[in-house]
This record gives sequence, structure tokens and C-alpha cells, in this order.
Amino acid sequence: MEGVFPRECCLCGFKGTFRGFCHPPRYDARCPQCNSLERHRLLALWLNNNPSILESNTSVLHFAPEEVIKQFVQRRTHYYKSADLEPGRADLVLNIERIDLPDASFDVIICFDVLEHVDDRKALGELLRVLRPGGLALLRTPFVEAWSKTYENPAIQTPADRFLHFGQEDHVRYFGADVRDRIRSAGFQLEEFVATEPNVSSYGLLRGETIFIARRPA
Ligand SMILES: [Zn+2]
Repeated sequence: MEGVFPRECCLCGFKGTFRGFCHPPRYDARCPQCNSLERHRLLALWLNNNPSILESNTSVLHFAPEEVIKQFVQRRTHYYKSADLEPGRADLVLNIERIDLPDASFDVIICFDVLEHVDDRKALGELLRVLRPGGLALLRTPFVEAWSKTYENPAIQTPADRFLHFGQEDHVRYFGADVRDRIRSAGFQLEEFVATEPNVSSYGLLRGETIFIARRPA
């Protein structure tokens, strides 16, 4: 499906009409050249704005790697490892709740759309542990800003019920605004990067979409 307005992709440099994505479609969601979606462009924008984060000597661990982010990050640093729970999908097979890596092994961790699938308290504690002091975890998860409290419900167990209550068959909660408290509780210092204008209209971002920049204190 054709998009509506001309946009610019901050991952690959494409300028022109994007494509719709999802059902019902979000117009102007997908770059036709590199296939980036809104969240990928939001991350690329933050990384472009903070060029000192990815330098040649930065080590990056990328959970549940999305191809467009992988390629973008790999071009900018020499030490990049992807990781996934499922064998064959990434460089490393890792369980984010029990990461089989030494303490303080990486400078940057990218973890998009994982926390809503797992025990986030365990996962966040493990991400902190494997980051070097001063290192950054770049996190994204669906959350509802207007909910003060995360929706968890132990009665919801089947895939169909999880789809109904949590938005996807394999999601185990729906975070509220207190996702920030949960990240801080693991020991992180927290900043945020929010999709605002003029970036939303220029790059085809989702209004208000947020990336959490979680720093392990030095
Ligand atoms: Zn692109």
C-alpha cells in the first residue's frame, strides 16, 4: 500500500513515499528502501544525534535483532553481537532472564520489544549486570502513558486471552507509565527520547513513541 506524504528515512537516506504497514495499516510506516519502521527510525535518529555512543570501539549486544537496526549498528562499530532465545536467529543464544555472559561485558545493549514477553524484573537486572558501568541499555516496549500502573493478570494464560488483554499472543502484560519505575528499580538512571515534531512528520514516526535510555551508573 502506498503511503501518503513524502518522508525521509534517517536509516538509509531514502526520500519519497513510504508504504503502509500492519492491519489496519499505519500510513507512511515502512521505508520502501530499507524496510525500516517508525521505531527503527526513532532509534536511528537518536543514535545520529548522539554520535559518540557508537564509535568503532563500542561493543554492542542486540537482543531479538531486527535486521535494519542490525545493519545500521554494525556499520558503525566493530564489535556487535546479536542474541536471541531461539537457536539460529542470532550470533548468541541467550535467555534474557539469565544471561550467560560475564558481568560488565558490553557498552551498549539494544533491546526492543522484548520486555513485554518476559519477566522484566529479571531481564532488567540482567541487562544492568552485563553492561559496563556507565553503559547504556536502549529499550523500547509498548506501554500506555495514561495508565499509572502496569496491567498484569495471572488469570490470563491462553494465547487468545493474551492477545485480547495484552495485544499479542505472546505478551505477558501491558505496561503503564510505571514502566519507568520498573527500569529504575533495576538500578538504572533513566532518560527518554520521544518522537516529537518536526521529526514525526519528517521521518514518519509515531507521535509520542518513546525510547528509554537506561544508564548503568558509573
Ligand atoms: Zn530507509
